[in-house]
Amino acid sequence: MPRAVVLLSGGLDSAVTAAIARGQGCELFALSVDYGQRHRYELEAARRVAQSLAVRDHVIVPVDLSRFGRSALTGQYDVPKDRLADEIASGIPVTYVPARNTVFLALALGYAEALSAADLFLGVNAVDYSGYPDCRPEFISAFERLANLATKAGVEETLKFKIHAPLATMTKADIIRRGTELGVDFGLTHSCYDPDSHGRSCGHCDSCQLRLKGFAEAGQTDPLEYVA
Ligand SMILES: [Zn+2]
Repeated sequence: MPRAVVLLSGGLDSAVTAAIARGQGCELFALSVDYGQRHRYELEAARRVAQSLAVRDHVIVPVDLSRFGRSALTGQYDVPKDRLADEIASGIPVTYVPARNTVFLALALGYAEALSAADLFLGVNAVDYSGYPDCRPEFISAFERLANLATKAGVEETLKFKIHAPLATMTKADIIRRGTELGVDFGLTHSCYDPDSHGRSCGHCDSCQLRLKGFAEAGQTDPLEYVA
Protein backbone atom coordinates (compact mmCIF):
# COMPACT_ATOMS: atom_id res chain seq x y z
CA MET A 1 0.00 0.00 0.00
CA PRO A 2 1.56 3.36 -0.94
CA ARG A 3 1.85 5.81 1.92
CA ALA A 4 0.26 9.24 1.67
CA VAL A 5 0.46 12.30 3.89
CA VAL A 6 -2.82 14.17 4.19
CA LEU A 7 -3.15 17.67 5.64
CA LEU A 8 -6.18 17.50 7.92
CA SER A 9 -7.65 20.79 9.10
CA GLY A 10 -10.82 19.34 10.58
CA GLY A 11 -12.87 20.96 7.82
CA LEU A 12 -15.15 19.31 5.33
CA ASP A 13 -12.76 19.67 2.38
CA SER A 14 -9.80 17.98 4.03
CA ALA A 15 -12.04 15.14 5.29
CA VAL A 16 -13.23 14.44 1.73
CA THR A 17 -9.65 14.72 0.45
CA ALA A 18 -8.49 12.14 2.99
CA ALA A 19 -11.35 9.82 2.02
CA ILE A 20 -10.35 10.18 -1.65
CA ALA A 21 -6.74 9.26 -0.81
CA ARG A 22 -7.91 6.23 1.13
CA GLY A 23 -10.23 5.30 -1.76
CA GLN A 24 -7.17 5.28 -4.03
CA GLY A 25 -5.64 2.59 -1.82
CA CYS A 26 -3.22 4.75 0.15
CA GLU A 27 -2.17 4.15 3.72
CA LEU A 28 -2.90 7.49 5.41
CA PHE A 29 -0.67 9.57 7.65
CA ALA A 30 -2.43 12.72 8.79
CA LEU A 31 -0.82 16.03 9.66
CA SER A 32 -2.58 18.89 11.41
CA VAL A 33 -1.06 22.18 12.46
CA ASP A 34 -1.86 23.89 15.73
CA TYR A 35 -1.15 27.31 14.25
CA GLY A 36 -2.79 29.52 16.85
CA GLN A 37 -6.26 29.38 15.35
CA ARG A 38 -8.78 31.44 17.28
CA HIS A 39 -10.60 28.35 18.56
CA ARG A 40 -9.83 24.69 19.38
CA TYR A 41 -12.77 23.09 17.59
CA GLU A 42 -10.90 22.69 14.32
CA LEU A 43 -8.21 20.49 15.88
CA GLU A 44 -10.78 18.44 17.79
CA ALA A 45 -12.56 17.86 14.49
CA ALA A 46 -9.26 16.87 12.85
CA ARG A 47 -8.74 14.25 15.58
CA ARG A 48 -12.25 12.85 15.07
CA VAL A 49 -11.85 12.73 11.28
CA ALA A 50 -8.45 11.03 11.57
CA GLN A 51 -9.93 8.41 13.85
CA SER A 52 -12.93 7.79 11.59
CA LEU A 53 -10.63 7.22 8.63
CA ALA A 54 -8.40 4.85 10.60
CA VAL A 55 -5.23 6.74 9.71
CA ARG A 56 -1.99 4.97 10.57
CA ASP A 57 -0.72 8.00 12.50
CA HIS A 58 -1.91 11.56 13.16
CA VAL A 59 0.72 14.17 13.97
CA ILE A 60 -0.31 17.57 15.33
CA VAL A 61 2.54 20.07 14.96
CA PRO A 62 2.49 23.34 16.91
CA VAL A 63 3.61 26.33 14.79
CA ASP A 64 2.20 29.52 16.25
CA LEU A 65 1.38 31.74 13.27
CA SER A 66 -0.68 34.04 15.52
CA ARG A 67 2.68 35.44 16.64
CA PHE A 68 2.94 37.00 13.15
CA GLY A 69 -0.61 38.38 13.29
CA ARG A 70 -2.25 39.84 10.20
CA SER A 71 -5.14 37.41 10.00
CA ALA A 72 -8.70 37.20 11.28
CA LEU A 73 -8.22 33.44 11.77
CA THR A 74 -5.48 33.97 14.33
CA GLY A 75 -7.45 36.64 16.11
CA GLN A 76 -6.03 39.97 14.98
CA TYR A 77 -9.16 41.08 13.13
CA ASP A 78 -12.85 40.30 13.48
CA VAL A 79 -14.19 37.52 11.25
CA PRO A 80 -16.33 39.10 8.50
CA LYS A 81 -20.00 38.09 8.57
CA ASP A 82 -22.84 38.02 6.06
CA ARG A 83 -20.72 38.91 3.06
CA LEU A 84 -22.37 38.51 -0.31
CA ALA A 85 -21.30 35.68 -2.64
CA ASP A 86 -19.48 38.03 -5.03
CA GLU A 87 -17.64 39.69 -2.13
CA ILE A 88 -16.50 36.25 -0.92
CA ALA A 89 -15.35 35.35 -4.44
CA SER A 90 -13.29 38.50 -5.06
CA GLY A 91 -10.10 39.78 -3.48
CA ILE A 92 -8.06 38.34 -0.63
CA PRO A 93 -10.06 38.43 2.62
CA VAL A 94 -8.76 39.15 6.15
CA THR A 95 -9.19 35.43 6.89
CA TYR A 96 -6.12 34.83 4.73
CA VAL A 97 -3.27 33.61 6.97
CA PRO A 98 0.12 34.81 5.65
CA ALA A 99 1.75 31.99 3.65
CA ARG A 100 -0.23 29.34 5.56
CA ASN A 101 -0.40 26.66 2.89
CA THR A 102 3.29 27.09 2.07
CA VAL A 103 4.14 26.53 5.73
CA PHE A 104 1.73 23.57 6.01
CA LEU A 105 2.99 21.92 2.82
CA ALA A 106 6.59 22.37 3.93
CA LEU A 107 5.76 20.47 7.14
CA ALA A 108 3.86 17.81 5.17
CA LEU A 109 6.85 17.45 2.84
CA GLY A 110 9.23 16.86 5.75
CA TYR A 111 6.86 14.28 7.21
CA ALA A 112 6.43 12.60 3.81
CA GLU A 113 10.16 12.39 3.15
CA ALA A 114 10.74 10.87 6.60
CA LEU A 115 8.02 8.28 5.90
CA SER A 116 9.17 7.61 2.32
CA ALA A 117 5.72 8.70 1.17
CA ALA A 118 5.66 10.18 -2.33
CA ASP A 119 2.06 11.39 -2.25
CA LEU A 120 0.84 14.48 -0.42
CA PHE A 121 -2.85 15.37 -0.38
CA LEU A 122 -4.45 18.68 0.52
CA GLY A 123 -7.99 19.91 0.23
CA VAL A 124 -7.49 23.29 -1.38
CA ASN A 125 -10.21 24.58 -3.62
CA ALA A 126 -9.88 27.29 -6.24
CA VAL A 127 -13.60 27.69 -6.97
CA ASP A 128 -15.02 29.11 -3.75
CA TYR A 129 -11.81 30.65 -2.48
CA SER A 130 -10.52 32.15 -5.69
CA GLY A 131 -8.92 34.97 -3.69
CA TYR A 132 -6.43 32.85 -1.75
CA PRO A 133 -3.15 32.78 -3.69
CA ASP A 134 -2.06 29.55 -1.99
CA CYS A 135 -5.15 27.63 -3.14
CA ARG A 136 -4.47 28.02 -6.87
CA PRO A 137 -3.32 25.20 -9.17
CA GLU A 138 -0.21 27.30 -10.11
CA PHE A 139 0.80 27.27 -6.46
CA ILE A 140 0.34 23.49 -6.20
CA SER A 141 2.43 22.75 -9.28
CA ALA A 142 5.16 25.19 -8.15
CA PHE A 143 5.31 23.49 -4.76
CA GLU A 144 5.53 20.08 -6.41
CA ARG A 145 8.61 21.26 -8.34
CA LEU A 146 10.09 22.61 -5.13
CA ALA A 147 9.42 19.33 -3.30
CA ASN A 148 11.47 17.39 -5.83
CA LEU A 149 14.30 19.97 -5.79
CA ALA A 150 14.44 20.52 -2.04
CA THR A 151 14.72 17.00 -0.67
CA LYS A 152 17.28 14.22 -0.51
CA ALA A 153 14.65 11.76 -1.76
CA GLY A 154 13.83 14.05 -4.69
CA VAL A 155 17.44 14.71 -5.71
CA GLU A 156 18.47 11.07 -5.39
CA GLU A 157 15.24 10.11 -7.19
CA THR A 158 14.22 7.57 -4.59
CA LEU A 159 10.85 9.33 -4.47
CA LYS A 160 8.97 11.44 -7.01
CA PHE A 161 6.79 13.71 -4.91
CA LYS A 162 3.31 14.42 -6.15
CA ILE A 163 1.03 17.04 -4.59
CA HIS A 164 -2.61 16.01 -5.00
CA ALA A 165 -5.34 18.61 -4.75
CA PRO A 166 -8.32 16.53 -5.87
CA LEU A 167 -10.90 19.20 -4.95
CA ALA A 168 -9.17 22.07 -6.76
CA THR A 169 -11.83 22.60 -9.42
CA MET A 170 -14.88 21.14 -7.67
CA THR A 171 -17.82 23.14 -6.33
CA LYS A 172 -18.73 22.74 -2.66
CA ALA A 173 -21.86 20.79 -3.68
CA ASP A 174 -19.72 18.36 -5.74
CA ILE A 175 -17.33 17.97 -2.80
CA ILE A 176 -20.24 17.12 -0.50
CA ARG A 177 -21.67 14.61 -3.01
CA ARG A 178 -18.27 12.95 -3.40
CA GLY A 179 -17.82 12.80 0.38
CA THR A 180 -21.25 11.22 0.77
CA GLU A 181 -20.36 8.53 -1.80
CA LEU A 182 -17.18 7.80 0.15
CA GLY A 183 -19.02 7.59 3.49
CA VAL A 184 -17.58 10.75 5.08
CA ASP A 185 -19.39 11.66 8.30
CA PHE A 186 -19.78 15.44 7.93
CA GLY A 187 -21.01 15.64 11.52
CA LEU A 188 -17.38 15.09 12.60
CA THR A 189 -16.07 18.09 10.67
CA HIS A 190 -15.92 21.76 11.60
CA SER A 191 -15.85 24.68 9.15
CA CYS A 192 -16.90 27.80 11.06
CA TYR A 193 -14.33 30.57 11.53
CA ASP A 194 -16.08 31.93 14.60
CA PRO A 195 -18.02 29.31 16.60
CA ASP A 196 -19.66 30.06 19.96
CA SER A 197 -18.25 28.74 23.24
CA HIS A 198 -20.08 25.41 22.73
CA GLY A 199 -18.51 24.91 19.31
CA ARG A 200 -21.70 25.68 17.41
CA SER A 201 -21.22 27.22 13.99
CA CYS A 202 -22.13 30.88 13.49
CA GLY A 203 -23.86 30.43 10.12
CA HIS A 204 -22.65 33.85 8.95
CA CYS A 205 -18.92 33.73 8.24
CA ASP A 206 -17.70 33.02 4.69
CA SER A 207 -16.92 29.41 5.57
CA CYS A 208 -20.37 28.72 7.08
CA GLN A 209 -22.10 30.41 4.16
CA LEU A 210 -20.21 28.38 1.56
CA ARG A 211 -20.80 25.18 3.52
CA LEU A 212 -24.54 25.79 3.90
CA LYS A 213 -24.89 26.76 0.23
CA GLY A 214 -23.02 23.57 -0.74
CA PHE A 215 -25.33 21.35 1.29
CA ALA A 216 -28.39 23.11 -0.13
CA GLU A 217 -27.13 22.70 -3.70
CA ALA A 218 -26.31 19.05 -3.06
CA GLY A 219 -29.86 18.54 -1.75
CA GLN A 220 -28.58 17.47 1.66
CA THR A 221 -28.88 18.70 5.23
CA ASP A 222 -25.78 19.78 7.14
CA PRO A 223 -25.63 17.65 10.32
CA LEU A 224 -23.82 20.41 12.28
CA GLU A 225 -25.47 22.53 14.91
CA TYR A 226 -25.72 26.26 14.17
CA VAL A 227 -26.29 29.12 16.57
CA ALA A 228 -29.95 29.98 16.17
ZN1 LIG B 1 -19.23 30.54 10.85
